[in-house]
Amino acid sequence: MKVNQKWNMPDLKAAKQRTKKQVTIEKSLFNIPSEVKNIGVGRKYYLRTYGCQANERDGETIAGILEELQFEPTTNYEEADLILLNTCAVRKNAEDKVLGELGHLKYLRQKNPDLLFGLCGCMAQEEDVVDTIIKKYKHVDLVFGTHNIHRLPVLLYQAMMSKERTIEVFSKEGEVIENLPVKRFGTHKAWVNIMYGCDKFCTYCIVPYTRGKERSRQVEDILDEVKVLIKDGFKEITLLGQNVNSYGKDLQVEGGFAYLLEEVAKTGIERIRFTTSHPWDFSDEMIDVIAKYDNIMPFIHLPVQSGSDSMLKIMGRRYTSEQYLTLFNKLKEKVKGAAFSTDIIVGFPNETDEQFQDTLKLVDHCKFDNSFTFIYSPRVGTPAAAMEDNVPMDVKEQRLQELMKHTNHWAKVNNESYKGKIVKVLVDGPSKKNKDVYSGYTPQNKLVNFTGENIQSGTIVDVEIIEAKSFSLDGKAIKVD
Ligand code: SAM
Ligand code: SF4
Repeated sequence: MKVNQKWNMPDLKAAKQRTKKQVTIEKSLFNIPSEVKNIGVGRKYYLRTYGCQANERDGETIAGILEELQFEPTTNYEEADLILLNTCAVRKNAEDKVLGELGHLKYLRQKNPDLLFGLCGCMAQEEDVVDTIIKKYKHVDLVFGTHNIHRLPVLLYQAMMSKERTIEVFSKEGEVIENLPVKRFGTHKAWVNIMYGCDKFCTYCIVPYTRGKERSRQVEDILDEVKVLIKDGFKEITLLGQNVNSYGKDLQVEGGFAYLLEEVAKTGIERIRFTTSHPWDFSDEMIDVIAKYDNIMPFIHLPVQSGSDSMLKIMGRRYTSEQYLTLFNKLKEKVKGAAFSTDIIVGFPNETDEQFQDTLKLVDHCKFDNSFTFIYSPRVGTPAAAMEDNVPMDVKEQRLQELMKHTNHWAKVNNESYKGKIVKVLVDGPSKKNKDVYSGYTPQNKLVNFTGENIQSGTIVDVEIIEAKSFSLDGKAIKVD
């Protein structure tokens, strides 16, 4: 393929590099040139985000930038002048969905020749995806990655004015860019990035390549953001990072995540959550802080991936099943009433039935409240992709079904224990299906659907649990705080 010299193409080899170079914190990189200021006037954007919370939070930045450029949001792509897909690369089916959507939406160009199509997020960081976009999705005008969201005003201007494709993807370790606009999608719950990237390089995972090296935000910048959120009436924040437990290592923040978490707890915000915790970096100090503060929610997402030590080793997870269980038991003992969720992959290369049985044993021991279960999906450029993907699909599917029987069973058993209890629910609002029924979450992150009258979203109400299902609880409100 002839690569246009003007384009900055992704490069997985460069994305993998980790040097000792100090990460820079950039506070003035974002600016809108005067000629670009009003390019959105009279135009609408449709933004669709796929994947994890990091992408959701990026979506809020992208929306913030577009609205500074005077674009108006729309949820109807038929009336959009800009369609932007903010994508996930973690599994092939996530990518297939996006490519399907791009193909499906192409017809809109005939109705509106000025309509712009853009692709950003993790897929944009992958060489093979951008190749495919160039060759087969010629209607895509703009491609940018996870490291250059701040460049959106200029890139958009270029794509709109030149009518040429604009592709700019940086494959670098990355800096921390502060002071980007943000349009919060929630009214009482917010995401707060505490760090970016990942250095763990689990052998199956594309994230370290698409999001760069682990780099933390400064404590003061995080606390300032939390204080603004409190002032704006937010009740719950979720601290975000691919591995929040290694927060602050790059900046030599003494006490690391335990220190940050305690400082955030001291701000007095009503509810604090955090995700994701890699078992390898979970210190006793962190456990003590979680146990000490009532506003740190007793809910821990602790991905295990497999119950087999040999699988964990070739997955590059850096712990054994015994070490995982020691940590799990310690958390359970110290953080009273905590709920746990996990991630599990089945069908990794060479996984035997015996190794899969080890995963079931671990699940039956931990009795997780919630589990995210995945069939292994080879990702180009990762070490696992060089191994033969030799577990047949029907075996992978059988294992997934078997695993889900166990995980759903424990989810239901855990939920049953809430029957007759009164729980505190942060109300999201009336349910979409029935406006006489409200929904919200308990401290343990249990979804509760409940009846009540005149209940405001963003308030915390006491709800008596009447019925337990595998993935939610039913109840009735008994008192509004
Ligand atoms: N940083 C987090 C962690 O370490 O758990 C999560 C990152 S990833 C977005 C979320 C989950 O996707 C992982 O925990 C893993 O179970 C799953 N995952 C990642 N790569 C995968 C792959 N190639 N195939 C199947 N599942 C995968
Ligand atoms: Fe991926 Fe492992 Fe990093 Fe999580 S810790 S993002 S699974 S490489």
